[in-house]
Amino acid sequence: MTEPISIPHLLHRLEGRETVEFKAILPELTSLTPVQAKVQVTHKDSYLEIIGVAETIVTLTCDRCLAQYNHRLSIDTTEMLWFTEGGEEGKAEIPFEEDLELDDMVETVSKNGLFDPSEWVYQQLCLEMPYKNVCGDACEGIPKVSPENAQPEGDRRWAALEALKGQLPS
Ligand SMILES: [Zn+2]
Repeated sequence: MTEPISIPHLLHRLEGRETVEFKAILPELTSLTPVQAKVQVTHKDSYLEIIGVAETIVTLTCDRCLAQYNHRLSIDTTEMLWFTEGGEEGKAEIPFEEDLELDDMVETVSKNGLFDPSEWVYQQLCLEMPYKNVCGDACEGIPKVSPENAQPEGDRRWAALEALKGQLPS
């Protein structure tokens, strides 16, 4: 696991940059293999630039057939974290033009704070989690139940129809 990086200390580094690599099981992420990651953090004037690649394999449950399957999760992301003066959120020093473009998608970080590469990687991997879990193109879903078993027991409408049918003259 990596140590959080002190953002002010980055200024003492060559080009304000630090690169960390790690291979670890992230406690919050249930992955089959350790997360292998490389994160480059650069101190720009008004923001922190993060360039990260990471990869792992997670076990997911198929939404259709409920079988478990392995899914390769990977990121190759560049993100800008705009500096805020203190610890407060939402007071980023964003130039006007970029403000329009970035809208409310802006992520901020305190310029005197810490940046935690493993936490960042974890968050990025979570964003990459598929919205819908399907084990594969060939998934046929849950095996079909035969029609007599499929009739829901408590379907009142059906029962009402049956009752009505009995009352009709044949
Ligand atoms: Zn499936």
